[in-house]
Amino acid sequence: MARELTQPAAASSLDPLLERELEALRARGLGRSLRTVERDGDTLSVDGRSVVDFSSNDYLALGRDRRVIAAAREALERHGAGAAASRSLAGTTPCHDEVEAELAQLYGAPAALAFSSGYAANVGTLSALAHEGDVVYSDASNHASIIDGCRLARARVRVFPHADLDALDRMLAAEPAGVGRRIVVVEGVYSMDGDLYPLPDLITVARRREAAIYLDDGHAAGVLGPDGAGTAAHFGAAGEVEVTLATLGKSFGGAGGAIIGSATLRELLLNRARSFIFSTGMPPAVAAGVAEAVRISRAEPWRRERLRANGLRLRGGLADLGWRVPERLAGHIVPLVIGDPDDTIRLGERLLAAGFLVAAVRPPTVPPGSSRLRLTVSAAHADEQIDGLLSALGAPPEPRA
Ligand code: PMP
Repeated sequence: MARELTQPAAASSLDPLLERELEALRARGLGRSLRTVERDGDTLSVDGRSVVDFSSNDYLALGRDRRVIAAAREALERHGAGAAASRSLAGTTPCHDEVEAELAQLYGAPAALAFSSGYAANVGTLSALAHEGDVVYSDASNHASIIDGCRLARARVRVFPHADLDALDRMLAAEPAGVGRRIVVVEGVYSMDGDLYPLPDLITVARRREAAIYLDDGHAAGVLGPDGAGTAAHFGAAGEVEVTLATLGKSFGGAGGAIIGSATLRELLLNRARSFIFSTGMPPAVAAGVAEAVRISRAEPWRRERLRANGLRLRGGLADLGWRVPERLAGHIVPLVIGDPDDTIRLGERLLAAGFLVAAVRPPTVPPGSSRLRLTVSAAHADEQIDGLLSALGAPPEPRA
């Protein structure tokens, strides 16, 4: 249990200004606060009540696997609580080498480099790869960490409508190839929409127009493809993607983000990616836990099969209730678009009261007017838990007049 800390009474001189900004957010239904939860085994406790978690990205239920915990604990005893330095100095341990080797092998790639978060990996890699004179083509629905990486890169950034590869093709055709680098950035499975990217079509366009592909595989790593080798493997196109990001805090149950690709890419990044160089390395125990999680995820395909079955059950049940379930979903992330942020929060609270935690997602995480419940299944959900969520949810609300 966390110890109660006494708060210093004095307010900061900045507070009145900050308060004004917060008021404006709250007035638009966009204020955020943190909810403290406790995980005990497979149960999640919120405000002292046990609930079933449909908001987690721990898709394969490996975050609390005894073997993962044992591997992390052993590394913790041996290497201590932290890396103690940047990876570039004395912060690289055998645990880091091990997790990078496991991830490279999973993706059938020569090399991987582990950053302390997926966010840091995107920001550091994009800014290291794209310079003045280069162009980054970024899908309009890309994650904030990609957007921030593009902002930090000195390259020109062109945003194309989500998954509109004709629009991308036209943009690429309008600029001469062969001047600078051309990098197209997309996600394999979109975090808030749950849709699977039409990667084969993107590969066709990118090869025709001499552009490289940067794939954020955060929500697909471990889940899609044979062995869980991600979106490209799912489409039989491993080797067609120049740069892949696998996040390590989702299917692999720990924390971090690894860039997977060629040995040259890895060497460039450890020389150039500022979020890698100027940041303390991922804790060795986390690296060891993730390495074990990657091994287990490959050896236990039933986790992916169960996840798929759970996704199908949820989507089928939602359609039966009359919810509009988008097409082209990868399966494990299901968005229910409500529209209004307050309505979305209220529905989330109602489900929580019924014993189910779901994510109520509002702008700026999603575009204005598209606030939604984001439901995620995991390999650990039992049929009865999914059915329980469905009956607590009921039919969709009537659209407002
Ligand atoms: N990319 C995508 C698509 C994500 O959804 C996220 C986080 N949810 C990240 C990158 C950042 O990863 P991390 O949480 O490890 O910082």
